[in-house]
Amino acid sequence: MTLLGVAERLGDVPAYVYDLAGLDAHAAAIRDALPGIEIYYAVKANPDPRLLRVIAPHVDGFEVSSGGEFAHVRSLLPDSRIAFGGPGKTDADLTLTPHRLHVESPNELRRLLTREHPVDVLLRANLDVPVAGAALAMGGGATPFGMDPAGIRECLELVGGPVRLRGLHAHLASGLDAPDLLKLATAVIAYAREIGAAEINLGGGMAVDYQDPDHRFDWAAYGRGLAGTPETLRIEPGRAMTAYCGWYLTKVLDLKRVHGELFAILTGGTHHLRTPVTKGHNQPFTVFGSSGASEPVTLVGQLCTPKDVFARQVPAALAVGDVVAFEMAGAYAWNISHHDFLMHPKPEFHYVSGIS
Ligand SMILES: *Cc1c(COP(=O)(O)O)cnc(C)c1O
Repeated sequence: MTLLGVAERLGDVPAYVYDLAGLDAHAAAIRDALPGIEIYYAVKANPDPRLLRVIAPHVDGFEVSSGGEFAHVRSLLPDSRIAFGGPGKTDADLTLTPHRLHVESPNELRRLLTREHPVDVLLRANLDVPVAGAALAMGGGATPFGMDPAGIRECLELVGGPVRLRGLHAHLASGLDAPDLLKLATAVIAYAREIGAAEINLGGGMAVDYQDPDHRFDWAAYGRGLAGTPETLRIEPGRAMTAYCGWYLTKVLDLKRVHGELFAILTGGTHHLRTPVTKGHNQPFTVFGSSGASEPVTLVGQLCTPKDVFARQVPAALAVGDVVAFEMAGAYAWNISHHDFLMHPKPEFHYVSGIS
């Protein structure tokens, strides 16, 4: 089955379609562009088991941000390496046995010192480096993520006992192109050297351009920029790994003009695909169906809230019954959405190889 095949058979229940062959090729290309750099996929972008299995052969491990994600990856891929991060770890979380644990605060480190089994840690740094242009900033100022240099110094004095210090972790911003992410990497590596870190995790945050799906993160340039660094380097991409392999397919239920503005009411809604609401963008889409004249239309779902908007005033030629396939729905899409709001049916999931 292909994406087009699912579109042709779509009924009133929307569908998520994942192109596993496309994901396989994309993950392989990322791997090839970054020789010598360890890659951990950030599971929170999309933890779908089928996707994780496709990604696994191309990466060195998985980055998880909760005990739930840890258990999920352990059960699916028992031999994979796991890096465990996240700012709010419970006592149970701190007894787990990941390959690397990312320490978020001096108090967290004090709690780790009481554990029985050894643990290999990276200290998560929030450095005061400019992250202008980022879609989300986790560092470069006061945020709850990681530690400033004073917190890191405090940790350096505490390590010992079961806690084996392996290096530094930083995930400072998301939505940056390769040149900007390299600038951040340079600052992180310089700081890591100051504290003698042998291993440096540079985080994720590779840009995904929803307004221009063909404008892709330049993995080769990023790889070239990082080449030759003597320390062990690791990255943990999420969005830029899986965003492109997913589509959310819906059908036009109604077209109407209200106070002069054209609306297309689609099956499903942002309770299935929350990405355009959280990111504040128009989700790109392809229409399978009509070929009439294009005019500005606002695409909404079935929810009774004005926030249920996929795309606002975008040019499209739509007719009732057309299938609208929202693109770039493979990351931070289904798994971040509020599925139960309004009790509409859940989407179907299809795993295909190829588009047409
Ligand atoms: C979310 C997250 C990532 C992945 O970020 P993307 O923007 O999806 O690439 C990587 N590392 C950490 C610590 C994260 O919280």
